[in-house]
This record gives sequence, C-alpha cells and structure tokens, in this order.
Amino acid sequence: MRTRSSLPFRAAPLRVEDPPSHGTLLTAFLSSLSLDERSACAVLFGAAARHFLHWLELHGIAVRTIDDRAVRRFEKHRCRCHRYSAQQPVYKADIAARVRRFVRFLEDQGYVEVDDGIDDLPRHLADYFDAINSLQLAQGPAQSYRSEAEHVVAWLRIARRRWADIDDTIIDQYAVHDCRCPVWRKRGKLVATGTKRRRRCARHFVEFLRGRGVIPSVEPVVDDNPHMAAYLTWLKQHRGATDETIRRYRTDITRLMPMLGEPSQWDAAALRRAFQRRSKETPGSASLLVTIMRSYIRFLIVQGECRPALLHAIPSVQRYRLSALPRHVDPAMIEKIIAACPTDRPVEVRDKAIILLLARLGLRAGDVRDMRLDDIDWRGGYIRVKGKTRRPDRLPLPQDVGDAILAYLAAARPKAVEDHLFLRVQAPFRPFSSSAEIAGIVARTHERGGIGGVPTGSHIFRHSLATNLLRAGAGLESVGTILRHSSPETTAIYAKVDLPMLMKIAQPWPGDLPC
Ligand SMILES: [Zn+2]
Ligand SMILES: [Zn+2]
Repeated sequence: MRTRSSLPFRAAPLRVEDPPSHGTLLTAFLSSLSLDERSACAVLFGAAARHFLHWLELHGIAVRTIDDRAVRRFEKHRCRCHRYSAQQPVYKADIAARVRRFVRFLEDQGYVEVDDGIDDLPRHLADYFDAINSLQLAQGPAQSYRSEAEHVVAWLRIARRRWADIDDTIIDQYAVHDCRCPVWRKRGKLVATGTKRRRRCARHFVEFLRGRGVIPSVEPVVDDNPHMAAYLTWLKQHRGATDETIRRYRTDITRLMPMLGEPSQWDAAALRRAFQRRSKETPGSASLLVTIMRSYIRFLIVQGECRPALLHAIPSVQRYRLSALPRHVDPAMIEKIIAACPTDRPVEVRDKAIILLLARLGLRAGDVRDMRLDDIDWRGGYIRVKGKTRRPDRLPLPQDVGDAILAYLAAARPKAVEDHLFLRVQAPFRPFSSSAEIAGIVARTHERGGIGGVPTGSHIFRHSLATNLLRAGAGLESVGTILRHSSPETTAIYAKVDLPMLMKIAQPWPGDLPC
C-alpha cells in the first residue's frame, strides 16, 4: 500500500492554549511529514506553510478558525506579502496542495477546531482496509475502495460535515466535488464514470461504519397512510430496497400523488403530465424519477389497482453516449506548450520527453508509465506501445520525440537498475506507480511555462491529436490506427469535432432564424 495515502486522520480535541510561535509550528509540521513527503520536498512544504501563516497574520485570521474558505481565499490572494511577492499569482496546484497538507496537520494537532462527530477514525479506516483485503478483489477495485474511503474522510472534514449527518445528499455532493483534498488523489472535477466510482465507494464505506454502529443507521421509514405503508413494505420485502432508497421513493411518490389522483382514473397522458411537472421541480434526476414511478405502478399492478399496460406509459429518459464533445486544444497551443518546456534541470528534460510522447503520438498516460527501455528501436526508428489490449503496436518515432528521449537518457535519467524508461528524479529512483503522476507532470509543465486555460490531464493531448488530424483531412480509419483504437466506434467520437464541416451541413432550426 502506498504510504502517502495512508496517513492516519486523527483530529485532536481543540487545544485551549494559544498556538505556539510560527517557528515551533513549522518545525513540528515538517517532522510530522511522512518519509515520502519529506524526501520529496520538505523545503517547499516549509515555504508554503510559512507563506500561509504570514498571510493569516496579515489578515488577522486566527489559526483556530481556519477552514476551507480561508484556504481558498489564500489561494486567490494577489500576493504582496513580504518576501513572497515574486510568486504572484499565488494559486499553483503544488503550493495549494502543500498548504492543505499543513492545514490538515493543524487539525490533527488540535490547533484548528474540527468536529467530525466520530471517534477513532484511523482505527475504523484500518479495519475497513482489512475488510476490503479479505474480499480478495482485484488490485484496481481494492485500491479504489481504500483510497476513496480516505478521500471521503478528508473531504468531510474539509466540508466541515459531521459523520452523523451523512446521507445520500451529502454523498452526492462528495461525488461531484471539485477535489483539492489533502490526500493523494487526482485533483479537480471528475467527469464520466469517476463520480459513479466515488459514490459507490463512499456508500460502501458509510455502510461499513453503519454496520459497526459507529454512525447511526438510517431510521426505518414508516408512514401513517396505510396505502403508502404497504408500498414501502413491498419495496423492502420484494425489491430488497435499502432504507435510504425507500426514503427517497416515499418523498417522490408523496409529492406525485396529488398530481396523479385516483389510480383507477389514470391514463398514459395523466402519468406523463405528472412526470413532467415533477421532473421540473427536481431537474437532473429525471431517469431516477422514471424508475421510481415505474416501481410504484408495478406495486399498484400487483395490488390490482392499476392496468398493467400503464407500466410503459412513461418513456425512458434518452441518454446519448456521444453527446459531449471531447475536450481539445488547437495545434498552435500544443506547439506553445512544447516550446514552453524548459530543459535546465534533469526533471525538466524528463518532463519534456513525456510531453512530446503525449503530444506527437497521442499516448495514454499508462502507455508512458509502462514504457520500457527496450521498447524503442533506435535503428528502425519506431517505438513499441502496449496500450489497453496488451497487444503491442509499433509507432514511428518522430525526430523531436527521439531527440528528447535521447537527451533524457544521456543526461537526466538516474543510473538505476530499472528497465522502465521514465523514473522518478528522487532516490530511490523508482518508476511511476500510477498514471495519475503523468497528469501531475503535465500540470507542472503548464505551470512552469506559464500556460493557462488548458484543460487538465494528459488525455487532452490525445484528444487534440485526433481532432487536429481529422481537421487536417486525415480519415477516421488512419486516426484510429494512430490512436490504436480496437473499435472504429471509439474513433467516431472525434468525428463530431469538425465543427466548421458540421456547420456547413447543419439545417436551420425550424421556425426560427438560423444561429
Ligand atoms: Zn502572499
Ligand atoms: Zn477531494
């Protein structure tokens, strides 16, 4: 297990005495860091914490009242602080992460007031890890469950929520939060399946805590109305719904009932009208509302109070798999990013080679992480990429990519007995353990080069390469070959990005001026 992510969370009770001097605080903070963190950049942690303390003093903010708002304000401040003003603007992902780590230290030590409403969280986390390990899941899912458990702990504290209050609404907020938590996680907002994973893992951990009686279980739902009570019992006994689901269903059905009237009078039009009215009240959860209404109708059918044909009166909510445009940037921006890569220090030489591999060949972060020394055939001028299918593919090695890798091998790669091409710059010179580290490298190169307004992550290069090739006239098939897609459907995602071409064939909107 990675040490960085398994730092225990132990919020101490608030200390009554005043916090000690800045110097003492800083020393204590630095010595509390894990070995991993300390070897990486103790000096930088110290600098970030000192700057933060200085800023707090300047604004008259007491240490014990620090919360997420204060940290966000600090991130945004236009720095005129003595000795730090060269760094404006302050917000840099790395500095922010270190400041948050410092705030977590202050909370752990009881200098800042936090009220988790839970005792001995580190022990529960450790027991949860054991429980996950005993399930013998594959490595990936097991790691997800473990790290999301820590993540939800960190986030609840940042959001100043109490464990006792946790429910589906809070878990939903957690799933979509814009992550800057002081744990080893991918930062920012998640897209696509990431929120589902967050929600699922958080629920799992919360259920675990409920099972142990650490946080109160959800009260069984009861209802005075005998009809509703029968529905709720049916949900529990025949559909195996949890109490929280039942609560949600009851709320929606109770609101719907007056709109619907007597079940014997229902027809398809009435059901649809009620659905439309109700889904306007809670936008964004239309498909859940369909499920809830169908479940209620099914119950009434079982009771003989409703015609079976009405089950199909409410249409499913249509979801389009390809409805979002892939994020991309234009070729000029890609060239600007590459040109802005400095190569003064070994780490910068390595990062430039990585950026070029991403930009020129559209590799995935995992491809870069897994690349071995013998994957490059210098004589033949190609590079072997394993990709998702584990079926190695050969790609031509462009001149500038080859030069950058050579420069890295000649002058910057540590002399370590490892066959991975890219290694960390600090001892013990290991290969990257996750592809998220490649995303971190991309973020840092943007920062070094002063590049703003580019979407985060390493996949942006892949999307941009595909988009720009298509715009330059390449066919879908050849783009699919370069990106090593196994199905042409995946490549078809990019067919939508040719906006100028799409605009030519778009029909004007009926009854309205074309826009
Ligand atoms: Zn400042
Ligand atoms: Zn987070």
